[in-house]
Amino acid sequence: MSRSEPILIVGGGLGGLTTALALARRGRASRVLEGAPEFGAIGYGIQFGPNVFHVLDRIGVTEQVLAVSDSPTAVLMMDALDGKELVRIPTGASFRARFKYPYIVVHRIDLHNVLLDACRVNSAVELVSDAMVNSFEDRGDHVAVTTADGRAFSGAALIAADGVRSLFRQTLIGDGPPRPIGYAALRTIVPMTELKAEVPRDCVALWGGPGCHIVQYPLRHGTLFNIVAVFRTSTHAEKGDPASYRAELEHTYRNAHPSMRALIAMMDLRWRRSIGDRGPARHWHRGRVVLLGDAAHAPLQSLAQGAGMAIEDGLCLAEAIHAADGDYPAAFGRFEAARLLRTARVQLESRALWDFYHLDEGIERDVRNATVAEWDEAHLFDCLAWLYDGFQIPTAAH
Ligand SMILES: Cc1cc2nc3c(=O)[nH]c(=O)nc-3n(C[C@H](O)[C@H](O)[C@H](O)COP(=O)(O)OP(=O)(O)OC[C@H]3O[C@@H](n4cnc5c(N)ncnc54)[C@H](O)[C@@H]3O)c2cc1C
Repeated sequence: MSRSEPILIVGGGLGGLTTALALARRGRASRVLEGAPEFGAIGYGIQFGPNVFHVLDRIGVTEQVLAVSDSPTAVLMMDALDGKELVRIPTGASFRARFKYPYIVVHRIDLHNVLLDACRVNSAVELVSDAMVNSFEDRGDHVAVTTADGRAFSGAALIAADGVRSLFRQTLIGDGPPRPIGYAALRTIVPMTELKAEVPRDCVALWGGPGCHIVQYPLRHGTLFNIVAVFRTSTHAEKGDPASYRAELEHTYRNAHPSMRALIAMMDLRWRRSIGDRGPARHWHRGRVVLLGDAAHAPLQSLAQGAGMAIEDGLCLAEAIHAADGDYPAAFGRFEAARLLRTARVQLESRALWDFYHLDEGIERDVRNATVAEWDEAHLFDCLAWLYDGFQIPTAAH
């Protein structure tokens, strides 16, 4: 009976929608339950390395994604205090020759719309919005859920792509919300014509400094400019007013390079989030329920790979389900085994990078700057190969 029911996917973010398309490619129907009144994304930029194209190619959306993306000429790390360029990863011809695909930045809404459009024309995908799941039961041969407004749905299995504060994670793992790390983040998009700061405009640049960093890059074919500012603060969990936030920001970035301070002056203070972290967990499934994306392995954003991992998960899980031919617990076990070390490495390297970016003035920072000065293109490409070369996809034979 359960073989013929659609698979339930809870959460219509980048992970959930990719999974629906990857299942459809293998002839498996899914029903995506999204808690928000409409499917959609928050309107900020996102970066992707070449690894996501191994998935985008297979679900047939590479061209559409490239049409709405920008390809920066380099990814830079700058010293937030003296403004010096510390690291340059060229992302032009040599990068494409090495990794076969580009590095891109894209407006989340545009990427989400590409995936949504592909889902809407695919009869194997049913999209249900305004469906906030608040309980579930694994009944052995199927899974039943109810939503906050009292509707009931059932499916052959359930994929929880419900993000970093996952309801399903709390039942399967029960490790509580991510641990606050004492930092807050702000995000802003401004028209490129309004950008007055002396900063690189066609690159992704990360300015790293004591207890603070900024990430900046162009969007929508260079017409918009995306800025994320992250800083250590004892008030990370508090709600304040814009005037107090402004004073705190100016104090935090008082020693930063003038270009960085010019970016800070442009920040919109209304969207402010405390940043949380959690370590890798070894098991993400029980019976016919499995966690995917941030619900399973949310990293800090320092490596810019959280959504990339959610997208990779989607293809990997669909292939594992296909290979196991309806034996869901077996498929979920194979998915977990295939994904655990790669996603855990992303979580751990993101943590290490976080500290690397935020070094205080002193010997450690001097050593960091002297060390990275020796890194040439070949070394940087070798360091990134584990991530950008892609990942192992389960097949019936392996
Ligand atoms: C400042 C910042 C910058 C980032 N930059 C990058 C980057 O450049 N590159 C990158 O790869 N990653 C980046 N990330 C990480 C990325 O945003 C996440 O890893 C990614 O969104 C995870 O995708 P997901 O589909 O697992 O979850 P989400 O995107 O969180 O989607 C979860 C969905 O589930 C829905 N939902 C939740 N609970 C329920 C429920 N009970 N019932 C029904 N629906 C539910 C939500 O409404 C949402 O639509 C960044 C994160 C931050 C905070």
